[in-house]
Amino acid sequence: MVPIPTPGLPYVGLLTDHEWSLVILLFGPPGSGKGTQGRMIIEWLQPQIPSISTGEILRAEIAAGTPLGLETKSIIASGGLVGDEIINRIVRHRISQPDCARGFMLDGYPRTLGQAEFLDEELAAKGMSEPVVVHLDVPAEVLISRIICRRQCRDCGAMFNILSRRPHIRGRCDECSGILIVRYDDREEVIRERLRAYEAQTQPVLAHYYNGFYCHIPGDRSPVYIFEAITHFLEPFAIAHAGGGKVSGS
Ligand SMILES: [Zn+2]
Repeated sequence: MVPIPTPGLPYVGLLTDHEWSLVILLFGPPGSGKGTQGRMIIEWLQPQIPSISTGEILRAEIAAGTPLGLETKSIIASGGLVGDEIINRIVRHRISQPDCARGFMLDGYPRTLGQAEFLDEELAAKGMSEPVVVHLDVPAEVLISRIICRRQCRDCGAMFNILSRRPHIRGRCDECSGILIVRYDDREEVIRERLRAYEAQTQPVLAHYYNGFYCHIPGDRSPVYIFEAITHFLEPFAIAHAGGGKVSGS
């Protein structure tokens, strides 16, 4: 675990005399609040950078019926996993767009060591800065207790939570009076398996970044505390980013 740096101090030497582009990689298991934190980071940064989700791009390609979308659809339909080659191709294309020239945030990528190495090469080829890694770490028990409290309406799909968003009548949807059920994906054994798979897949990718700009954030705190910890870590990079790559010495 790398301690959170004091803003403006440890990285100054590394950041000076160097066009700084802000590449943020956001890691966190399902249910960690990563989506919310990602949106807050983007709003906090000036100038803003695009947030890129490879999952969203794939879904959009499939919906639009592009050649890539059709290829992906047939892989998924046959029970296969979308391989590094396709995902890397998507990322290369997306980060070559003009809005990514000064940086971007990636959510859900890289997922494998191969993807991480590909990203290293792409960033080096573009003369972009080393990525800054934010790792939201939430104990499995906390994630499980959050997720098993979710209930979904069988009829209209509305989401409830027996801890934080209780229906007015127990077991019934506020919108349509439909019966509330626990989604298959929200069952404890399914979540445990998903978290195990996530852990096994993500650990080697995170290890790839331990010697870089890596920050471990305990994610079992309030969203405000987590955001505070993230921005504390990101601050020197955000300053460099805002200043067009120049950081005044300390
Ligand atoms: Zn309903």
